[in-house]
Amino acid sequence: DLVGRHLLDYVENEIRSDCSDLFMRSFNQDAPVQFPQIKLTTDPDKTRYVKVTTGRLPWEGTTVIQILLEDITELKLKADELENLTFNDVLTGTYNRRYFIEQAEQLVAHALMENTSFSLLIFDVDWFKKVNDTFGHLAGDEALKSIVEVWNQNTRHLDEKKRDADGKLARIGGEEFAIFLPDIDLETAKIVAERVRSSIEDHTIQFEGLDFNITASFGLTDLRPSDKKLDDLIRRADIALYRAKEMGRNRVEAE
Ligand code: GH3
Ligand code: MG
Ligand code: MG
Repeated sequence: DLVGRHLLDYVENEIRSDCSDLFMRSFNQDAPVQFPQIKLTTDPDKTRYVKVTTGRLPWEGTTVIQILLEDITELKLKADELENLTFNDVLTGTYNRRYFIEQAEQLVAHALMENTSFSLLIFDVDWFKKVNDTFGHLAGDEALKSIVEVWNQNTRHLDEKKRDADGKLARIGGEEFAIFLPDIDLETAKIVAERVRSSIEDHTIQFEGLDFNITASFGLTDLRPSDKKLDDLIRRADIALYRAKEMGRNRVEAE
């Protein structure tokens, strides 16, 4: 499609002038110039990604540049796929929201089919905005990491089968975490949540000479026969969490 046409006709408007500058630069310099990735659209449903290298040809007289296009579409799509597959939250090492939802949907579908039970626990750090404002964003980050530690310390006793796959929390929002507890009924889940809640409260976070404590509010629910999908559970857990906040925070509520 590009043969006999000008490359600049097919690049996105935003980068057209940069591309043009790049080509012009090649006329005046010896070293090759590179654009690692340019999106070319010759047709609305025909997008390719190319790596562009331009270089001046070594002869006297009229300056001529050569433009080399390398189709990297497959590579780029693979890289995107890999990025999407990344299921860990970089800051805390927990699962990220995307992965949590994906796993959770499967878990719910499976449990509804097999008639097994589990609880869903979500919790949200209290007054976290104030923590950031008072101690700084980095201290806030440290607090989020400490939550995962506290969680792990308090749930080691749950045997493998009773932990969500590997018992790993998911950070589903800025300062909001969630986990499914397979084979754990609501009463047992309350005990787990209460223990974690009190340990978070007791755990002092140390960051660059600062010592501070945080608390979190917990919302709990369990799978009911009337549930049809993940949203039904999440909605109930959210209601419980909201109530825990309303009732003064640093507490566990179940719905
Ligand atoms: P509440 O008790 O009602 O939950 O109050 P809150 O202040 O925790 O709630 P709010 O939703 O107002 O504030 C959440 C704050 O969390 C705002 C945002 O700056 C902060 N936050 C979100 N993600 C991160 C993060 O990754 N690191 C840090 N340090 N802060 C974060
Ligand atoms: Mg909060
Ligand atoms: Mg929140």
